[in-house]
Amino acid sequence: MANYNQPSCKICRRNRVKLFLKGARCFSAKCAIEKRNTPPGPRKIMLRKLSEYGKRLREKQKIRCFYNVTDKLLGRYFKEASSRKGIAGHNLITIFETRLDNVLYRSNFVRSRYEGRQLIRHGHFKVGSQKVDIPSYRVKVGEEISYVPNGKKTIMEFNNKDNSTAPSWISVDEKNKSIKVLDVPQRSQVDVPVEEQLVVEFLRNRL
Ligand code: SF4
Repeated sequence: MANYNQPSCKICRRNRVKLFLKGARCFSAKCAIEKRNTPPGPRKIMLRKLSEYGKRLREKQKIRCFYNVTDKLLGRYFKEASSRKGIAGHNLITIFETRLDNVLYRSNFVRSRYEGRQLIRHGHFKVGSQKVDIPSYRVKVGEEISYVPNGKKTIMEFNNKDNSTAPSWISVDEKNKSIKVLDVPQRSQVDVPVEEQLVVEFLRNRL
C-alpha cells in the first residue's frame, strides 16, 4: 500500500488540484482546496517557479497519489503501458482505471479509492464467482463485480458521492449492488487531473 507521511489535503494544496483523497469531505465545502487553494508552506515556497524537471516530477506524484499506488507499482504499470500498442500515457491511464478499487470508486459504490481498497481487503467483493481481496486486481471487459455482505453488518450502501453518474464503460446495478465492465476505458472518457505525457517523460528518464 502506498504510504503518505503528510496530511492528504496538503498533497492537494501542493498540487493545487483536488485529488479526492478523503471521501465525503472532498465533495463538501470543507475541502481545503475550496477554502484555500494555495500551496502549504512559506510564501517564498508558494511562489517558487517549477523547473521542467519539477513539473514532470509533480505530475508523477499527482498520478501516484490520485490512484494511491507506490512508485514501484507505478514503474511496473509504466513498463506494461510502454510495451502495449498505442500512446503510453493513455495506456497507463487505462491500466489505472481498470484496477478494482478504481472501478468501485468510479461506480459511486465508495467515497474514495482508500475506502474501496479497505472493503476489498476485507473480502467484500466477488469478481464473477471468485472472491477477490486484491485492490490492484485488473477487471476485464465483461467481468461482473458483486458485493458479498461479510460479517454482522452490511456496511456497503450505494453512495452517490457527488450526484455524478458512472462512466459509460461501466454498468451499475444499484439494487443488486453489482457492477459490470462493458468496455476498455479510453482516455477521453476518463477525468484525471494529470498531464500523463509529463508522467511518461519523467518515467522514461528514470527507468
Ligand atoms: Fe482534502 Fe479537498 Fe483534497 Fe479531499 S479534495 S483530500 S478534502 S483538499
